[in-house]
Amino acid sequence: MTPGLLVVVSGPAGVGKGSVVRKILEYAENIVLSVSATSRPPRVNEVDGVNYFFKTREEFEAMIKNNELLEWVEYCGNYYGTPKEWVCREVEKGHVVILEIEVDGAVNVRRLFPDCVLCFVLPPDYNELEKRLRGRGTETDESIKARLARAVEEFKLIDRYDYLILNDTVENAADRLLSIIKSERMKTSRNQSIIDKFKNINRSE
Ligand code: 5GP
Repeated sequence: MTPGLLVVVSGPAGVGKGSVVRKILEYAENIVLSVSATSRPPRVNEVDGVNYFFKTREEFEAMIKNNELLEWVEYCGNYYGTPKEWVCREVEKGHVVILEIEVDGAVNVRRLFPDCVLCFVLPPDYNELEKRLRGRGTETDESIKARLARAVEEFKLIDRYDYLILNDTVENAADRLLSIIKSERMKTSRNQSIIDKFKNINRSE
């Protein structure tokens, strides 16, 4: 069985990482997306259990206390966290599990799983990021300002990532992400059982 792979996809709010990830889920069956828990209220069209598991702050704090989260952060005034049990089970099944999370969470995941793959999605430039964020029409002006300020902070941690993915178009960015996943799965360091099989061939004649 091909071993599972944990792939973290980060990038500033509005860069389009959600669209890129959704695109690659259409391409391949063995790639799954982790659904995070958050205390942020749902946006119009967001569905509980699909986009996020929406929790009250008290419910989220209980999840922290019960050790149900792989990692969690407070971002722009709300809690966000990755459910531990589901993610570990999917990796064990040999699936590629994508975590769409911000930079502090990514650094924590790397600490826990050193062989995870960290990808950072970049906009063509900063002005384009602001345009996309405003164009989304889902955020208040205050929230847009907080997210743009946060983006500047997030860019400072870019060199912690293994790969940069330019999101000029969603299709191009999804192709780039898929190429990374395919290459990572072919790494010798991730395929010890195949190596052993070929190293242990004994010709009897
Ligand atoms: P949004 O409110 O726009 O959906 O998400 C805000 C930020 O939180 C995004 O950068 C998103 O990737 C990140 N995020 C979503 N879920 C998680 C999570 O479980 N853990 C961490 N660390 N960040 C998350």
